[in-house]
Amino acid sequence: MDSAERDELMKVCHELAEEFAGRADDYDRHSKFPVENFAQIKDNNLLAIMIPKEYGGWGADFLTYTKALEVLATGDSATALAYNMHNIMVGSIAEVPEAAGDDKRASAANDFRAWVYDEVVKHKKVFASATSEPGIGAHVSHLKTVYDRTDDGFIVNGVKSFVSMGGYADYYVVAAKAARSKSKTPAVSFLIVDRDAEGVTMKNIWDVLGMRSTSTNPVTFKDVLVPKSRLFLASEGLALYKIAREPHWLVGGYIGVYLGIMSATFDFLIDYMQNKNKPGSETPLSQDPVVQHQTGQLYSELQSARLATYHAARLVDTARGSDEANAAVHHAKYLVSEGGPKMTAMAIRMCGATTLARRFPLERLYRDSRCGALMPASSDDCLSYIGKAAYGTNLKNPIETYW
Ligand SMILES: Cc1cc2nc3c(=O)[nH]c(=O)nc-3n(C[C@H](O)[C@H](O)[C@H](O)COP(=O)(O)OP(=O)(O)OC[C@H]3O[C@@H](n4cnc5c(N)ncnc54)[C@H](O)[C@@H]3O)c2cc1C
Repeated sequence: MDSAERDELMKVCHELAEEFAGRADDYDRHSKFPVENFAQIKDNNLLAIMIPKEYGGWGADFLTYTKALEVLATGDSATALAYNMHNIMVGSIAEVPEAAGDDKRASAANDFRAWVYDEVVKHKKVFASATSEPGIGAHVSHLKTVYDRTDDGFIVNGVKSFVSMGGYADYYVVAAKAARSKSKTPAVSFLIVDRDAEGVTMKNIWDVLGMRSTSTNPVTFKDVLVPKSRLFLASEGLALYKIAREPHWLVGGYIGVYLGIMSATFDFLIDYMQNKNKPGSETPLSQDPVVQHQTGQLYSELQSARLATYHAARLVDTARGSDEANAAVHHAKYLVSEGGPKMTAMAIRMCGATTLARRFPLERLYRDSRCGALMPASSDDCLSYIGKAAYGTNLKNPIETYW
């Protein structure tokens, strides 16, 4: 992607963010999935943001993706979060080079990739991430969802607890464990399930504090048949391996979203303080030395989180899967997850009671920001990861991590 294409992409994201902002309150208030926002995402070919240009996508690198997500999240963080779930699947395929050779496995992997690209670019299909389970969260090594091998493919059984875009997405990327394995660490694989496949049932029960319009719902898989061709990159056992060694998608995808919440909060604060006068005076609050000091502190926190986020994303592009990149991803995830609630709470305190009103975005940003620390890796998991990395622990072995 050259700089003109990057500018074009960012321009599109800024325009969409403005439109998303106009609809965010309605979606949030009624816990409605942002169908119109996704229609615009499709119209602008953004479902294919990570797909290489030669296959009809934008061909974004991880840093550009992170910046695009930050901008989209300034308009509606819930839409950006759901959109990231789709890119976890597509992005993690796009970064793997085409399999060389003409053996059966290589051509099956290439066929799988070609199918995904076709579904996204031509048919505008949306992929959801179905990993977390009741009582397990996203701790993939403890999954209860299992698959049995058959001659033609797999049979999946299990329950997923938090599937964003549940009911809206066309395909569900299901993390499941090989059943009846004698190994202490059975293969964990990703299988792609059609929304309309027999045995798939969904509930619509998402009525929560924040990220209300993501339609994050439980999905049950009962004896669901999955053809062989829908095994992620035609490889069993790739899921846990890839998540532990290259956590940038499952952990780092969110960082752009939660950074976007911080950016939107700061921009709102700057604008509001320039237009609200000190009580009983004609002087805007922005001229007050205490407000300037507090604003300086928030700026410093935003900019530190942003620099850490861009640094991590750049390392994903230049040294994907390295210890340095993985630690940087966890560090950035920690900063944006903790920085959002702190910054939104402080902005409400500084702007005052009027901005608690729902016609302002602050209270929604506050609620949405509270979800960051719960999503993988949780803030505590991030700290443990960075701490272990500092002692030189080998974090590429899944059992050494929180997964
Ligand atoms: C808005 C939103 C959207 C989401 N979308 C998706 C999605 O699309 N797909 C998907 O698969 N998932 C999704 N999730 C789920 C998410 O990925 C996590 O799995 C989930 O948030 C973890 O939930 P949990 O805190 O209950 O689970 P856990 O991680 O199991 O944590 C439960 C509690 O146990 C504690 N704990 C965890 N491990 C330990 C330990 N080793 N020792 C001591 N205490 C521990 C934690 O601190 C926590 O208090 C979404 C979640 C949210 C909030």
